[in-house]
Amino acid sequence: MIEISDTGKGTSVVRLTPARCNIFAVTRNGRTILVDTGISFDRSRIEHALERKGLIPEAVILTHTHFDHAGNAAWLQKEYGAEVVVQEAESQFLAAGDTPIPEGTYAVTRGLVTLGRKIGPAFRYEPCIADHVFAERFDLNRYGINGYVIHTPGHSPGGATLVIDDVIAIAGDSIIGTTPGKPFPPFADDVDLLIRTWKKIIDTGCETALPGHGKPVSREEMKDEYNRRKLL
Ligand SMILES: [Zn+2]
Repeated sequence: MIEISDTGKGTSVVRLTPARCNIFAVTRNGRTILVDTGISFDRSRIEHALERKGLIPEAVILTHTHFDHAGNAAWLQKEYGAEVVVQEAESQFLAAGDTPIPEGTYAVTRGLVTLGRKIGPAFRYEPCIADHVFAERFDLNRYGINGYVIHTPGHSPGGATLVIDDVIAIAGDSIIGTTPGKPFPPFADDVDLLIRTWKKIIDTGCETALPGHGKPVSREEMKDEYNRRKLL
């Protein structure tokens, strides 16, 4: 599992603690932002990890607002004064604490979605009013981080990817790292759009993508999968 990825340009990207999704702490010159937040059950673990590492997050960037990524946004905002940043297509979902579940992209996951929708209320989370909402791009320099966020829809309408030092892309569920050699996510609202999003992420020039679940995916793995998918 990812513990520390250094961009080689002064920024560290640390997986904060085991949680329902990968939560990353991005730190440069003593300033920190968090990427994604897990579910409410992960809260005390996040608290302890921040304390242990001596980090106070200035901002929380959401790669999207599915319940397993947005569950502690409101709490981090209240507890640490962290500014919550989300892409505009999902700010209303976040404000309601309720984000629609995407379609499965494989037969098995399509079945799971049908099941999931029946237990819908379990996927609600604490509502949160974002401090910043962006359309195409959001600059991270305001938090002392050399990087930016871009809109990468497809898995969900307001998908976002952080580009750190032009080296590491933190891609949320646009990419998945749980099964080696299968980096295309098992759930997506719009598969064609997600394939175009992959091109966008590859075009950032980043060497590594850190997914919302599982291990890092290399640029080469992404390009191979993209080339296979775009021909389908
Ligand atoms: Zn998701």
